Amino acid sequence: MAKLALWLVCRSCGREFDTRLRLDRKSFERGTLAANYHTCPYCGERLTYKKAEYLTRER
Ligand SMILES: [Zn+2]
Repeated sequence: MAKLALWLVCRSCGREFDTRLRLDRKSFERGTLAANYHTCPYCGERLTYKKAEYLTRER
């Protein structure tokens, strides 16, 4: 099962960053992933993100 890397676009500075979360596709599709906190490594802003905001990258 391929793991997906979950990335986000920071709502504060607009840069993409790797959340370091790794899930297989099934877990991602089934999971709710509601309101998770992530800290942007560029601007340091800590914000909540919803599942729909994650960018998934096959690795
Ligand atoms: Zn940022």
